[in-house]
Formats: sequence, structure tokens, C-alpha cells
Amino acid sequence: MSDIAKSVAEIIADVRARGDQALLDYTERWDGVRLDSGGLRVGADVLEAEVEESDFSRAFARAVDRIGKFHSRVKPRTSLYEDDEGVLMGMRWTPIRSVGLYVPGGKAAYPSTLAMTALPARIAGVERIVVVSPPGSDGEISPQVLMAARMLGLEEVYRVGGAQAIAALAIGTDSIPKVDKIFGPGNAFVAEAKLQLFGEVGIDMLAGPSELVVYADETADPRWAAADLLAQAEHDESTRVTLLASGQGVLEAVRKCVAELLEESPRRETIEISLERNGSFEVVADPRSAAARIDEIAPEHLAIQVANPFSFLPLVRNAGAIFLGKESPVAIGDYFAGPNHVLPTGGTARFASCLSVEDFMKRSNLVRMSLDFTRDSSRDVEELALGEGLPAHATSVALRRQETGKARVRGGLQGVTPYLLVEEEGETKLNQNESPWDIPGELKDEVSRRLKDIPWNRYHQSIPQAFLDRIAADADLPTGSVLAASGSNLILQWIFEAYAGPGRSILVPSPSFSLYPLWAQVTESRLETVQLAEDLSYDADAILAAIRGGRPDMMVLCLPNNPTGSELETEKTREIAAAVGEYGGLLVIDEAYREFSAESFDRTALVKEFDNLVLVRTCSKAFSAAGMRLGYLLAPVALATELSKLVPPFHLGLFTAVLGDVLWENRTIFDERAVKLNAQRRRMQEEAEKISGVKVFPSEANFFLFEVADAGRVHDELKKRGILIRRQGGSERLENCLRVNAGTIEENDGFLDALREIQG
Ligand code: PMP
Repeated sequence: MSDIAKSVAEIIADVRARGDQALLDYTERWDGVRLDSGGLRVGADVLEAEVEESDFSRAFARAVDRIGKFHSRVKPRTSLYEDDEGVLMGMRWTPIRSVGLYVPGGKAAYPSTLAMTALPARIAGVERIVVVSPPGSDGEISPQVLMAARMLGLEEVYRVGGAQAIAALAIGTDSIPKVDKIFGPGNAFVAEAKLQLFGEVGIDMLAGPSELVVYADETADPRWAAADLLAQAEHDESTRVTLLASGQGVLEAVRKCVAELLEESPRRETIEISLERNGSFEVVADPRSAAARIDEIAPEHLAIQVANPFSFLPLVRNAGAIFLGKESPVAIGDYFAGPNHVLPTGGTARFASCLSVEDFMKRSNLVRMSLDFTRDSSRDVEELALGEGLPAHATSVALRRQETGKARVRGGLQGVTPYLLVEEEGETKLNQNESPWDIPGELKDEVSRRLKDIPWNRYHQSIPQAFLDRIAADADLPTGSVLAASGSNLILQWIFEAYAGPGRSILVPSPSFSLYPLWAQVTESRLETVQLAEDLSYDADAILAAIRGGRPDMMVLCLPNNPTGSELETEKTREIAAAVGEYGGLLVIDEAYREFSAESFDRTALVKEFDNLVLVRTCSKAFSAAGMRLGYLLAPVALATELSKLVPPFHLGLFTAVLGDVLWENRTIFDERAVKLNAQRRRMQEEAEKISGVKVFPSEANFFLFEVADAGRVHDELKKRGILIRRQGGSERLENCLRVNAGTIEENDGFLDALREIQG
């Protein structure tokens, strides 16, 4: 055992035995300062203090922004696929719960390294990020590291370094609860402690001397190449820099520039020693020999400064980070570009990778077998198990073969509870957001007349198509932007079928339309929800944050929202569409109640603006046609074409297509009805608000939500009087909320009188 190994083993044993006391003793011994155990943790007052604006802090903020964006993009995502035997398989990525980040002290205290470790940890979703860094003799951590911690919003920082810090993170003490994995570079003691504690705790990698290879040809700028070599050499005397030159002339030119730049360098001494000990200037015969030499060195950084870096790239296998072209200096990569600067050193790029978000996560295999598959494979598995002498394995599959049963739906559907339609009896129906007025008799007659003239025994595609084209023309969209179906529910189901699925994530607001979670479940997708604000309005910032955090494959917005009636400014809707689109996701806007909300919420034109947006509408509400089942969607043609793959031939019955035509020809009737219902809804809100114990929420739809002390009682009392309104289950926030839609004047008066009476 080396001396370092021995003394690290002692430190670890001591921290294990004496916890905080050992930390304080070693800190005194190595860092020359006596802290008390309360002094190990940096106080919230220090970490929450405002960061003073400076050129440095501004530059750091920009670096943080770029690094954050890059790492968000490369976050690994759970993926699943189903093979042709119906077995669903994949890998799920979950964040490690807690991590420790080591930041060296002294002159190697790099705020950039803190950003490069803390940001991927945060993006991975790590719950607890702990920073440890040795105090100086004044008892304080480097002010730059503290500033970085503040700007990164880190909350748990300890003044402890060396092997004792690693031991504390791995084992845990009274002051420093242990973590699951440790990251960050350190001196030989830190590296040795990580090595000895590996297994008890996860570790990132072992930092060795850092390396740079510059491969330059005559198109390279010798001064730039030389400057890159010096930048690397200034890190440390053990740094290895190598120039691979395509010819003697290139080599001499770079060497000359190295000598010139060295003259002016403040860190000349370190650089000189590093170059002398570990620097190498070599001529390579051709690109293949250059690549072979690079693979042998397996450098941390590789700068390819030749005429066509991309054609050279495939020849190289081993390098931690590759900088393509002479315009790409390693130094920008160190701070700013975005990709991580924590890289495999000491030739470990042969088998190790750059640090990234996945290092802060772990994979689990996921498998879901169908009973059919299990039965089909059970004999083979029994053979294998018995062959290995593991009979209990054989039994576990044999048992499943013996079970018999009828045909089964696919696994994901087995636990689903279907949507429950509650038929309620009552004179006054204000519970389903329907129109109180039936379609006028003349229009019904007109539909019948047209239907009589058409043969019913023939498939008719042209009539439904003409109807779709008419909707498209009204919306000023090209033909092919519209699909229709028996109710918008069916359209939404198509959309889920196309864009949701195992391994995909669906973001929906909550509370909202209760069928979205059901469809997410039926399609076996992951459901993410984003809460409405306390006042039940949409919280656009929360939605944007949820999109950036979860990168959903699809988001559904209900505008106006059912059951709250909330709308969203079109500018915010735009931002949301763009944000979802940034990650390749679809934004679906369920506009079942669109005709009731103000003109300013008209989103029709957004269909031309975004290639990832679908508007879903229905004739069930404003068009008085709930019973006839007619819904439609507006989408960019390419998107509608994708969705049309799910549309069976002749899906739109002649009846609904003809009805649609008649409704469209008489739109004004329904526009006027919407205006009337809106006025009624407003009146009901104003009147209800005056009743004691009733709180009314704003709405842009033909219904509104109100809150009372005991929604169950109010609901039942209304029902006794023959008035049906909707209780809101499924959300705690809405526990005492009731939804009522505007009916006829008489119905609304009846409701208001009854409510006054009930509320006493
Ligand atoms: N979306 C929302 C928000 C709804 O409230 C409803 C019906 N209550 C629908 C879609 C479905 O409407 P339909 O299938 O009748 O078109």
C-alpha cells in the first residue's frame, strides 16, 4: 500500500468512527483552520445573498444559460418498444436521489466546474445536491465558488475538503448526511478516497493529468494552434500537450509561435515545465497515422484544425471532447460552449466518456409480457432453468402456463376503469354544458329533405368531403386541414392514438377535462400534470416550466377549460406551442367551448403559424347538436395527413355530413345563441356572487364554476328540486366546487332561486 493509500484508509476509518469530530480535526490539520461543528455548513444567509453584478457574474450567467440549454437537450429519455410478440420492453431513466460535488480549493477552485457538475445534476432531476470544498486558512470557501453556488441556487454547501470530505459524503456524519454518488476532481488524496469508497458510494471517474492533442495542417493558423497548446499547458505541470502536424513546415511554424507567445505568458513557468516534461511536437505522415496516434494517446481534448475536420472525424475513436475546426478553441469549450468540460483524462477516453446528464441518472430495465407470450415461452424457459439446476425458476413459468382464460385485452388496458356515464333524472339539465335550445324544426326538415334525395345504399365520400372543405375555407385554411368525426371525443382519441403511447409523456393541465388522463392511461403513456393557479386561471409560467422539465410528446390544453372556464391569452398560447415544439411535441387545443369565449381568443390563425398545433372543435355545444355527434379538427395539412392514417374509410356518416352542411349554412342562428347564452352565464355569475357563502370563478364559456361550503349538500338539494348541475370529483381543489351551465332564462332563474333558498 502506498503512503497516500494508507493515510486515506486511516482518514476514512476515523470519519467512520468519530464523524464530525474527525472532520474538524482533519480540517485543522490540512487546511489550518479550526471550525466548530456548526461551522461546517455554509449558512443560508450567505447562499441566499444577492450576487453583486460584475462582468464576471454576467459572463458566468451566460455560461450557465448555455450549459443548461445544452444539457437539457441531451437528457436521456425513457424509451419503450413493443416487439412483434407483444412484449413491451425498454429502459427507464431515473435521477440519482442525492449527489455530492467536490470542488477543490486554492488556485484550482473553478466556478466553471461547479456549473459543469451542478447543472447536469439539476437537469437530471437530482433531489439533493451537496457541495463540499475545503476552507482557506480564513475558514471560508473560495469567494468565487460561493458566488457560483449562489448563482446556481445551491443550498447545501460544506466547508470541508480532502479525503475526509469524500468519506463524509460516502459514509455520512451528523452534519453531512451521506449521498449516493460523488463527482468532481480533486488532488491525489481525494482520488484515492473515491477509489477506496467506490461501491459504498458511486463515483464519477478518477481525474488524471489533462491532455490536448492539436492536429494541424497547412490551413491551420499556427498562432491559434500554439495558443491552444499553451492554454492547456497552463493548467498544471503534469498536463500533456501534443501537436500532430501534417508536415515539418507546419510543425516549425507552430513551434515558433509557441516560443513567441510563451514570452508574454504570465504562467510561463508552469507552461514551460509542462511542455518540457510532457509536450510533444510530431509530424504525421497522413490522416490515418494521425488518427492512430490520437487513438493511442486517447486525449481528453482533441482539436482538429485541418481543412475538412468532418472528413477526418470518422477515423478517430478515442477522445473525450472533439473541437472541430480552427475556429473552435478548447477554452470556449471549457467555459461556455455548452457541452461538459469534465472529461476522461489520463488516456481513459479509450473506455470512458464526457460527463453528462446520464451520469446523474440510472437505468432500469422495464419489461411487460403478455400472458400469451409468457405461456408461449414457458417451455423454453423451463428447459433453460432445469438445465441450470434452478427448478423454482421452472415452476414460476410453468404455473402461468396452467392458467386458462378467455381472450384478454392488452396488458395496459386491463386495469382501466371506463368512463362512467351517470344518468341523472331531473327537469332542469344544467350539468352537461349543452345548449338549452334544440335545432330549429326547419333545419331538421331541411336535413331530412336532403337525406331523402341521396341513396343510402351507396358509400358517399364526396358529400362529407365537401363539408370538410367548407370548414377549411371558412377558417382560411387549405383543403386537407380538416378531419371530422362523430364527436370531438373521437377526434381526441385519434390524436392520443397517434401521439401518445408507451414511453411517451403527455402533459395536461389539472383540473381539466377528465377524459385526458383516461386516454393517457389507455394508450399506456406517462401522464404529467401541471396545476392551474390558485384562482383556477391558467399559469402560463408553470406550464412552460413543466414543458421544459418534462419535454412532453404532447400537451393538451382545454380552452376555455372544462370545468373552470379559464382562457389563455393568445400570446401565451403561442409561447406554449413554441416550447412544446422545441422538443418535438404536439400541442392539442381542445376548443369544445371556443364559440363562447371572446373574439381575442380566436386561435384559428395559429394553425398557419405552427406545424405542431391541432385545434379540436365540436358541434355539441354552441351548435346545439350534442345528440348528433359531430366534431372536427383544424391542423396544418402535414399533421392532418398523419392523423388521417387513423381515420377509417367513410367514417363520417351521411347524416352528420349533411347536418354539418345545414348547420354551417345557418351559422348566424348559432352565433346569436352563443351571445345569448354568454349573457345568461354572466347574469348567473353576478347573481350567484350575491348569494351568501357562494364564491364564483370567472369563465369564458357557457358554464361557470362556483364554490360553496358543502358542495355535496348543495348538489343534492338542487337535485331534489329537479335541477341538475355537476359536482367536480377527482381534484381536491374542486372538492367544494360545482359547475353549472347557462340554460334558458327560466331555468337559470329556477337555479338561482333554489340556490338562494339552499344557502339560506
Ligand atoms: N372536450 C371537452 C372539454 C368537453 O367538455 C367535451 C364534452 N363534454 C368534449 C371534448 C367532447 O365533446 P363531443 O364528443 O360531444 O364533441
